[in-house]
Amino acid sequence: RSLFAGLKPQAPDPLLSLIALYKNDPRPQKIDLGVGVYRNDAGDTPVFAAIKGAERVLLETQPTKAYLGPEGDLGFLELMTPVVFGEGKGDGLIALQTPGGTGALRLAAELVNASTPGARIWMGTPSWPIHAPIFRTAGLAVETFGYFDVATQRVCFDEMMAALSAVGADDVVLLHGACHNPTGADLSIQQWREVAALLAARGAVPLVDLAYQGLGDGLDADAAGLRTVMDACDRVLVAYSCDKNFGLYRERTGALFVRARGEEEIVRSNILQLARCAWSMPPDHGAAAVRVILEDAALSAQWRTELDTMRERINQVRHALADADPRLEPLRDQRGLFSLLPLAPSQVEAMRRDHAIYMAGSGRINLAGLTTATVEPFVQALAACLQ
Ligand code: PMP
Repeated sequence: RSLFAGLKPQAPDPLLSLIALYKNDPRPQKIDLGVGVYRNDAGDTPVFAAIKGAERVLLETQPTKAYLGPEGDLGFLELMTPVVFGEGKGDGLIALQTPGGTGALRLAAELVNASTPGARIWMGTPSWPIHAPIFRTAGLAVETFGYFDVATQRVCFDEMMAALSAVGADDVVLLHGACHNPTGADLSIQQWREVAALLAARGAVPLVDLAYQGLGDGLDADAAGLRTVMDACDRVLVAYSCDKNFGLYRERTGALFVRARGEEEIVRSNILQLARCAWSMPPDHGAAAVRVILEDAALSAQWRTELDTMRERINQVRHALADADPRLEPLRDQRGLFSLLPLAPSQVEAMRRDHAIYMAGSGRINLAGLTTATVEPFVQALAACLQ
């Protein structure tokens, strides 16, 4: 018997297979709305000029590559804290740099499981397809509630609140901070207040996944839900990603922030130990570049301007789609890179086969995959497939 005989086959990530299909499609008019990266109106995902500037500084001034320690870059963490939590906020938080938002989610789940093995984590459906496997791999039990109705393009808030009224102090509740993946449908600030009050009353712990801060309505606006939760709850987990809002993707730049009032030391020591046993220390480069940007007024201003340009472009595409077809009107009020179109798998397939338009099997589109030139052909293809 082989040591590996117990392994079960794992399906490849369907989005990654889509990349290969797209690459091999010879049709010149092909459109890629699959993988979740920002693209500019020329279809490119360039390195931010602010990151290039920071990289030049690092190249010239970085004195050593010696180990930093399991928390990663402390300056990065200190400077990101007001960006995420607001000026003057975030005191007493435990903060640790992680390999991307994914690393932060995994570490949060491991921390919960180390204290409460098999604890339940509640999440709305649909969600980022990697959420549930990350939590299960860490040992948690995933419970779901309906979050979004694809046909009406609305958040099922009553269903969500009904499900959450059953949670208790041993439960974690995953919330998308902003720019919900895959639906683009976020809670209103009033709904955030209701959710935060309910979780605080029941003692359940929110895990806020903030992977797109600044891509929706702006840095502060996109953190407003998280900040509402911070005002209400004594225990909060925050999985943060800089991979979209600094365009760092492959550099794997993120952070885990934890509020654990009165239990800071035991929680901190456990997080450090878990990180030490998972990756020892996070990759340095992306976080170092973010730190250099936030340390420098000119680079910070440049970064904010670049982020504004990204956000404005995404929202322009949303308006263009809604203007072009009344059925796409709900996309106007959604935010971030994604929307989830009410398409059957056969229609997603027809979009690819007949129109060379590539999107996730769920019907999720990356709006940044569209340009001024491709909105019109996309809307026409969609109309043909919806008939
Ligand atoms: N959370 C959500 C909702 C995401 O969409 C993503 C990335 N697509 C992540 C977390 C993880 O981001 P990272 O690449 O920084 O690991």
